Amino acid sequence: STIPAPHLPRMSVYHYLFPFKKYKSKHRTRFLYYPDPNLEKPSFIDGLTGRFVTRAQVEEQSKMLATGLKIKGIERTEVGCVFGMNSLEWINACFGVQALGAVVSPANYAYTPDELLHQLRDSTSSFAFVQPALLPTFLKALELDPKYSIPDNRIFLLCTKAEKEQLKEKGSDAEKGWMERFQCSEELWEKSGTPKRFQDGMEERTAYLCYSSGTTGRGKGVETSHHNVTSQVQALNCSYEPIKYKDVILAMLPFSHIYGLTVTLHQPLTVNGTVVVLPRFDEIAFLKAVERFKVTWALVVPPMLIALLNSSNVSKYDISTIRGFMSGAAPLSSDLIQAFEAKFPHIKMTQGYGLTETTPVSNVMNLKEAQEKGRNGKIGRIIPTYQARLVDQETGRDVEPSKGERGELWLRGPSVMKGYWRNEQATREVFAEGGWFKTGDVAMMDKEGYFSIVDRVKELIKYKGFQVPPAELEALLITHPDIADVGVIGIHSKEQATELPRAYIVPKSGLSASFTTPQSKMEFTNKVQEWVAGKVANHKRLRGGVVLVDVIPKSPSGKILRKDLRARAVREEEER
Ligand code: AMP
Repeated sequence: STIPAPHLPRMSVYHYLFPFKKYKSKHRTRFLYYPDPNLEKPSFIDGLTGRFVTRAQVEEQSKMLATGLKIKGIERTEVGCVFGMNSLEWINACFGVQALGAVVSPANYAYTPDELLHQLRDSTSSFAFVQPALLPTFLKALELDPKYSIPDNRIFLLCTKAEKEQLKEKGSDAEKGWMERFQCSEELWEKSGTPKRFQDGMEERTAYLCYSSGTTGRGKGVETSHHNVTSQVQALNCSYEPIKYKDVILAMLPFSHIYGLTVTLHQPLTVNGTVVVLPRFDEIAFLKAVERFKVTWALVVPPMLIALLNSSNVSKYDISTIRGFMSGAAPLSSDLIQAFEAKFPHIKMTQGYGLTETTPVSNVMNLKEAQEKGRNGKIGRIIPTYQARLVDQETGRDVEPSKGERGELWLRGPSVMKGYWRNEQATREVFAEGGWFKTGDVAMMDKEGYFSIVDRVKELIKYKGFQVPPAELEALLITHPDIADVGVIGIHSKEQATELPRAYIVPKSGLSASFTTPQSKMEFTNKVQEWVAGKVANHKRLRGGVVLVDVIPKSPSGKILRKDLRARAVREEEER
């Protein structure tokens, strides 16, 4: 990178975001952080209601929540799960736990009870914040395993006191019962003194446990340290300039995913930008929020662009304030960029690349550079603090990018995760000698240092930016009484700008004989699709279809040859 490396503070996330007065004045010039001259400026606005909190309120309320948690007996060594859609209460829970010095494990709101239980148990969560509407899923998850539990006085609702009162009065019988049973985060607030500085070494401790399947298998807890987060934010602040003091940013990507967590929840606080929070992406809510709050910048995933491109509602709203979009979490094609910029010339598009394991950004395309010819679709240069290698998977040697050679992208830097939580083997598998992290993505680099992602060698499928671990769907499908073997891959949908999970299935012997007509075959595959839909989160459904085959291609050691399945899928798509 041509940009000088930033100062990397050695402190906790909380004290980095809300520095002590003394530290602030001493280190001001070394921080890319300025005290806010406008104390009334909203830091986070609820995009649906307009309710907001200022920076000072975020700080004060986090401290008060931390004191409340401490009084409940919750310690710094504990892990707390946050399970809800984006909201001001989510932010309070997150920074409250950070002010206490404990670990936040954010869970995807779309999870089924099974999926949630996996994360709760694996992360050893001993307290939790839950959005009231998600209580049925949460309580069901706890019921599934009698050996694992969180007591009621450690389960807190992600809602205000006023919302709680309303549910108590007007809610269903079940809701009324829950409102009696659980406290909401606001009820925990206790006046407090300033939290003490944490002991030395805090920066190396784990701050977040987001879940990622990595290169293979089920979801694993990614141990993101305080230092991982602070160095990432420092690097973002000096590597590309989009989010500034004057910006109004839309946060509709889930805070439970590292992209939403770092880029929309942490980074804007350091430049005192304003963030409009939406529970999730919804076309009308998006357009209304842009018009009402004069949004200037949004973090998106490619399918959101498709939705806006095809929307007939855009013309009804004033979206002229938007100056740019940053896309990430999945490939953004140059076709889509061109189509989007042709329809919305005032919105400049750029993209970044990263992983949960890298907190997340390692590459990002500068807005101005993105407009230059031939850069479309590239992910930009490596940002400061990161180092990269492109390695031939077979020989283990570095390739020669100048000759146009491609290789697996390996990354090293202060924002690479500590490892997978309580999973040494998985950690060992993704790190090479010298601390290099193997991304599982194949990249190329041009002469000027701009990278493009050209392939993926790991198992992962991404549906609209969400992870779909094929191994998880395979483990589920193999339990189906009519299925003998299965392999799951992602197929690319240009129309939707995303991958779609597809299952190749070998039916149990004898069964195939009963498929005498295309219709009977289709009935069977439809049934399998529905069966899966009833058991997994929405984003993991088999939207790419179910295809019946005689055999799943495997290597001599029994590994599914996904490459062969992918090649087959391409052929099938061409034949359609
Ligand atoms: P996650 O941990 O959920 O953020 O997923 C990380 C994976 O998403 C990466 O390893 C890539 O396969 C994919 N990904 C993220 N950003 C991009 C991008 N800009 N282009 C292509 N793939 C991407």
